[in-house]
Amino acid sequence: KIENDFKITPYNNDYNLNKTSYLIYLENSAKYYLPRYYGLKIFGNVNDIRFNDILNSRVTSVSNAFYKSIKEYKYRGNYQAIMPIKVNQQRHVLQELVKHGKPFNMGLEAGSKPELLLSFSLLKEKDTLLICNGYKDNEYLKIALDSQRLGLKTILVLDRFLELVALLKIAERIKIKPNIGIRTKISFKGQGRWKDSSGAKSKFGLSPGEMIKTIKLLQKHNMLDCLKLLHFHIGSQITSIRAVKNATREAAHLYCNLKEMGCSSLNIVDVGGGLAIDYDGSKTNFHSSMNYSTQEYANDVISIMQDICDIKNIKHPNILSESGRSLVAHHSVLVFNVLGVSQLTNKHSEMLHPPKDRDHNIVHLLWETYKNINLKNFQEAYNDAVSAKDEGITLFSHGVINLKTKALIEELFWLICKKIQKTIKTLKYVPEDLEGLDRYLSDIYFCNFSVFQSLPDSWAVGHLFPIMPIHRLDEEPKREAVVADLTCDSDGKIDKFIDLRDVKNTIKLHEVNDSPYFLGAFLVGAYQEILGDLHNLLGDTNTVHVALDDNGNYRLEHLIEGDTIAEVLSYVEYNKSELINKIRNLAEHALRNGTLTFEQSAELMRRYENGLDGYTYLEKID
Ligand code: PLP
Repeated sequence: KIENDFKITPYNNDYNLNKTSYLIYLENSAKYYLPRYYGLKIFGNVNDIRFNDILNSRVTSVSNAFYKSIKEYKYRGNYQAIMPIKVNQQRHVLQELVKHGKPFNMGLEAGSKPELLLSFSLLKEKDTLLICNGYKDNEYLKIALDSQRLGLKTILVLDRFLELVALLKIAERIKIKPNIGIRTKISFKGQGRWKDSSGAKSKFGLSPGEMIKTIKLLQKHNMLDCLKLLHFHIGSQITSIRAVKNATREAAHLYCNLKEMGCSSLNIVDVGGGLAIDYDGSKTNFHSSMNYSTQEYANDVISIMQDICDIKNIKHPNILSESGRSLVAHHSVLVFNVLGVSQLTNKHSEMLHPPKDRDHNIVHLLWETYKNINLKNFQEAYNDAVSAKDEGITLFSHGVINLKTKALIEELFWLICKKIQKTIKTLKYVPEDLEGLDRYLSDIYFCNFSVFQSLPDSWAVGHLFPIMPIHRLDEEPKREAVVADLTCDSDGKIDKFIDLRDVKNTIKLHEVNDSPYFLGAFLVGAYQEILGDLHNLLGDTNTVHVALDDNGNYRLEHLIEGDTIAEVLSYVEYNKSELINKIRNLAEHALRNGTLTFEQSAELMRRYENGLDGYTYLEKID
């Protein structure tokens, strides 16, 4: 089947003995590659596909945007990109980023103790920047200072005043001069979903009073020269450039003030993250978009900093940005197959025959309504259909009509809605009552993935990701659909989709047939994988890295198998062999009672054990 659909190129891999992977080139569907294993296990139908070259291109384009501004404005500081690893800590992603970031001197940012231990191990080059954010305890502070001893340029950014007191004690005890940064609470509010990261009530950062206290305490310990960096972060996905301008302006004045107060070693401004992604392509300040380009962002940061420093006659600081989303969102695509479709109406029901004489009056009434719908009476037809359907429900609950009649009434009702939907398509103004018809009449496409595991922001904050079929792109999709996932949770669905001017409640998909039909959710490389959870014990998906080699051919690099069922069960403290023993005891009992034959028991045990070693997503339905 696959061979008919795709051109298959055998590809040797050295990751898993006894397995051969095939690079499958979906000829009809742009350039997508699906890995598939033959052998003991099948590489499943839901995959995260990561494109290494896109990571490379993002690091290059963000850094180049700043280099261009620096050159154009004759700014006298430099720029370094910092990858905040919270955005995607996956080993192969970070390794790729560190590799591609090397020519740009890219550093890493850690926001917690585990992230610190990880970043510390990833950065090998001497003098690479390691920015230490987040709340810190003594152990965090000591490990960060250890990394400085090993040659990294580690900057401990104070998120709370208390951290300074602890840091001074430890530094004095172990006799090391720390590099200190301070995070300030920017008064201007950011924009977008994460705007509460700024403002006086934001969770992190020092207030103006605490900053003055910090300077005094550093002076007292004769350590003011340890203060190297001023940091701010006004939230992720900043949709409006005005917020960037306002925050940079405030930070620039703060930087100049600190310099004037004698912080002579202070020479870095870290503008934090927030550089947005235009998920919906609208180029607006809508929450899934951005009304500026990366170049405009860089230009504004550089020019505002320059203007204010020049007025105050202060040396331009070096600039860091912690743009995580913008570095990694693009490189990853979630690809999953459609398992089945639920339709309220289809071609078959639209060829419904007229009711028989013996059918209930309501059925006749609905049929008449259906036949006579036109541009003049569609609203009246809709009202009649709604009250007939409601009457049908009442009659059924009083035992007056049977299930067959109820089914007929419902089917006719949906057909009426469908006809009205078609009729009003041409109208400029659609009555409010009928605006929701598209959603009511949409099909439900059941898909092999978990929103909670793979697209958690779609569920948690209503984030919009570009979703589209990756099959049959030369064929117009005609069905209006919503996408439902595998979990038994009514929130496990996607019913908000990108539209250029608005948000759509449905997506256009193809009528499914016997061929595989895959959808892709794009731009999912930032935050999704690590925020994902194990709802219904659906685990990590299989992942593959795709890279372009020197001859222009694609190759699959890291094939990472998703969680097995035994693995997800171990996360909730179940042990594989204990589970097997329990089932074996039950099978032996059944064997003794004669409810299972020997062969049945052996097969049951084999199936159970294979099940535990299997993928948490569905693999095959006959
Ligand atoms: N820096 C800090 C301190 C953050 O809290 C975050 C995330 O919110 C980032 C950087 C990354 O932000 P983004 O991914 O929007 O660039």
